[in-house]
Amino acid sequence: MSDCLFCKIAAGEIPSATIYEDEEFRVFLDLGPATKGHALIVPKTHAANLYELPDEVVAKAFILAKKMITAMTKVLGCDGYNIVQNNGEAAGQTVHHFHIHLIPRYEGDNAGILWTPGTLSDEDKEDILAKVQGVF
Ligand code: 5GP
Ligand code: ZN
Repeated sequence: MSDCLFCKIAAGEIPSATIYEDEEFRVFLDLGPATKGHALIVPKTHAANLYELPDEVVAKAFILAKKMITAMTKVLGCDGYNIVQNNGEAAGQTVHHFHIHLIPRYEGDNAGILWTPGTLSDEDKEDILAKVQGVF
């Protein structure tokens, strides 16, 4: 994808604060961090989102996420991590090249990336359970 921002960053054509790189992925600091140390895992091959990402890359990406948060928890001294992965504009995706957000959490940081829980209604529960019958 010649006009894709994350293709260019992943290829090193646009500079980034890279904290890890291998043949298939680049991990770099987010320019608009939710907290100190917020980073993005980006595959070097283009896929718009998780729907389009080949299974073998999905597997490697999440294994890399585990490796990164394990190391970065020690480096940053954070208290936890959120892994966030947005698919589609309705879900908050703004860059349409698959990426995983690694967001370190610090006690009391009030990063505000969690949701206010609703209530599972009987209507929604029955509707969804009926719709998934035979799908999986
Ligand atoms: P999304 O909203 O698509 O899940 O996340 C896109 C993320 O990319 C945002 O958190 C945004 O701050 C980050 N971002 C956008 N442009 C750049 C850039 O040029 N460099 C870096 N390092 N991060 C970017
Ligand atoms: Zn791309």
